[in-house]
Amino acid sequence: MKIVKTEVVRVNVKKPDNAIILKAANLIRNGEVIAFPTETVYGLGANALDTLSVSKIYRIKGRPPDNPLIVHIANMKTLRTLVTEIPPTANKIIKKFWPGPITLVLRKSKILPKITTGGLSTVAIRMPKNKIALELIKKSGYPIAAPSANVSGKPSPTNASHVKEDLDGKIKLILDGGSTEIGIESTVIDMTSNIPVILRPGGISKESIEDEIGNVHYHSSLIGLRRYKGKINKSPGMKYMHYSPNAQVILVEGTEINVNIKVAELTNKLKSEGKKVCVMTTNKSLKVNAEMVQYMGKTLEAIARNLFGNLRKADKNSIDVIIVEGTPYNNTGFAIMNRLKKAAITCIRV
Ligand code: AMP
Ligand code: MG
Repeated sequence: MKIVKTEVVRVNVKKPDNAIILKAANLIRNGEVIAFPTETVYGLGANALDTLSVSKIYRIKGRPPDNPLIVHIANMKTLRTLVTEIPPTANKIIKKFWPGPITLVLRKSKILPKITTGGLSTVAIRMPKNKIALELIKKSGYPIAAPSANVSGKPSPTNASHVKEDLDGKIKLILDGGSTEIGIESTVIDMTSNIPVILRPGGISKESIEDEIGNVHYHSSLIGLRRYKGKINKSPGMKYMHYSPNAQVILVEGTEINVNIKVAELTNKLKSEGKKVCVMTTNKSLKVNAEMVQYMGKTLEAIARNLFGNLRKADKNSIDVIIVEGTPYNNTGFAIMNRLKKAAITCIRV
């Protein structure tokens, strides 16, 4: 791949500078790929309607070609051009949560090239809330296909320097809008079945979706299993390794007291083997003999916001093993545990 100079440009997220957004939008219009902030994580965006532009996203990320992209839009008019129908329940979700961190899977129209949807007859669409993202989409005049702006398999980027770590020399521009608000990706929900199915838990919880539209299901692959191994490719992303820092991740879940004991025991064992250990904990006063201790946050929202950044910080400190505490499974906790289980090579319940 040709090496390019990667420019990082700071943008005020409350009041994005017109000239900078125009420059970024022109790159998109010219078939380039750029990184920009959304409220969930940073995205790596290109014109969703152009095969060549979208192919660059897959190449830059090293993303498998059957893992479809989320198409980002800024108004309802565009949505209607991209899909063949919008079921009433989808409209309810849109009214309540858009712009925001929930992605709807709907039947695609013909204007979307196959590459954008990984060959599927459905398309995943979201209207982001971040002003930089919205302005960029509007000014480019196209829907923007954008997966997370990381190398495939790595933790998603939640600030511009994470993007630079992964993609320096591979893209021309990173719009730096500071740290993202939510910190984990959007919820992906399939609206094409009778009862909507959550394919990826994320920024909007199952509980709050059900408050709006009644019963929805989690896809079977999200329940119980440590990692998806099934054959059903409803959301192709589910079968790939994800969110993995260079360090090995060990997830410990259970009652607080048992977790504290297990974390201390594991730390001592790994240290005696000469490993550099990072402990990620929700217990502010945890005393443990690790090289690095990272407080994950008080609320589930804070834990989500810090999660990927904490994993990357451990890598910066050349940590060998990250021992991370599990969270409860309710609300945002379900999405956090989904990310941790995918990142972990071992999950221990005590
Ligand atoms: P990313 O943009 O990297 O955060 O990943 C987007 C997620 O949405 C992946 O898990 C994809 O497999 C999923 N996705 C995108 N398009 C579709 C679709 N048409 N049907 C089902 N899942 C999709
Ligand atoms: Mg991703």
